[in-house]
Amino acid sequence: MNKVILIKYGELSTKKGNRNFFINTLYRNIQSKLSKFDVRIRKDRAHMYIEFVDSDLENIKKNIDKVFGIHKYHVANIVETDYESIAANVLEVAKNSTFKTFKVETKRSDKNFPIPSLEMSQKLGGVVLRNIPNIKVDVHNPELLIQVEIREENTYVYCDSYMGAGGYPVGTQPTALLMLSGGIDSPVAGYLAMKRGIQLECVYFEAIPHTSLEARNKVIELTRKLCGYTNSINLHIVNFTKIQESIYKNCRGDYCITIMRRMMYRIMERLCTKYKGLAIVNGESVGQVASQTLNSMSVINSVTNVPVIRPVACYDKLEIMDIARKIDTYDISILPYEDCCTIFVPKHPVINPKIEIAEEEEEKFDYNDLIDEAVENLNTIKVQEIVEDYNDLL
Ligand code: ATP
Ligand code: MG
Repeated sequence: MNKVILIKYGELSTKKGNRNFFINTLYRNIQSKLSKFDVRIRKDRAHMYIEFVDSDLENIKKNIDKVFGIHKYHVANIVETDYESIAANVLEVAKNSTFKTFKVETKRSDKNFPIPSLEMSQKLGGVVLRNIPNIKVDVHNPELLIQVEIREENTYVYCDSYMGAGGYPVGTQPTALLMLSGGIDSPVAGYLAMKRGIQLECVYFEAIPHTSLEARNKVIELTRKLCGYTNSINLHIVNFTKIQESIYKNCRGDYCITIMRRMMYRIMERLCTKYKGLAIVNGESVGQVASQTLNSMSVINSVTNVPVIRPVACYDKLEIMDIARKIDTYDISILPYEDCCTIFVPKHPVINPKIEIAEEEEEKFDYNDLIDEAVENLNTIKVQEIVEDYNDLL
């Protein structure tokens, strides 16, 4: 029997003016996600249709599950739009299912088809009732819901329903730069940003030899996990060693983290210009550590006018961990390698920093050349979902 995956759009159906742009972006994203399969994809204003080879179905579903912009999808039988064929197919679907109560629901978008939706549902329900013993109709809470969509080209019959990833298609918003550390929070922040349609590039600050190559590999692995939701992602690796050493040599201990993060933000702003990023995304969460009190955030944020999006700002750590498990980044994030934020951590970082003091401490050393150098000399890796070896990059 001929089958098709029937995709229903998510939130994008509320965006009237942008509808075509959203649908076309989703179409391209699905096309590139499924490029390794033998599929044919068609689209109209309400649905996308994917014809596939039966043996690929499970793998195709796994890929579709990571495409944002899909609300729901179904694996439907393709049936000719005439009453006899539809009735035969509905009966076959019912015979292949186990249930005590059922309901048939019809949508008739082909108004040339002579039987109205409600009457069609009743007639088809009657066919099922007459042919299968000991079952009854339950219109409110049926165990089996058989859906029939009568369209001009074909009719689609299905009884399964899979939740899509939701959100907007990646690429319906411009690029933003994600500050990606090896921790739990930032990959989750990246996932949530992509779910809003944002195209990401990632930035990782490393301080070799104080941080290890294993720490870098962890970030590459996390980027790879995020690639599951798009195609490839550029990961920019910033050498932060000299800046970090200078901060710890020249600034008072309790302000080191504040100033280190102000330097990161300054570099992020420069990278936004370089890579046309319209926003910075990071995994900061209000109150989580000394540098993420509202006071700290305000002193740190004041070095840039680029918007900073913090998708997990108001989430509890447990909520963030749940998402990390769901997107399969958790096990990578908890690997025990030092990050540049965790080395040299002062005993008592300031919780309510003053901007004047931060500025005073920064006056003690001229960081400009080091910032220029860090921006100019970064390493960029194009990370893809499939495994590649980046060990020769040093
Ligand atoms: P954890 O999940 O353990 O909290 P974290 O990565 O969130 O780890 P924080 O110290 O809370 O660590 O840092 C806050 C945010 O700053 C991170 O979510 C990340 O966006 C950014 N950040 C921290 N360190 C780095 C780094 N080395 N490179 C890039 N971004 C970083
Ligand atoms: Mg954190």
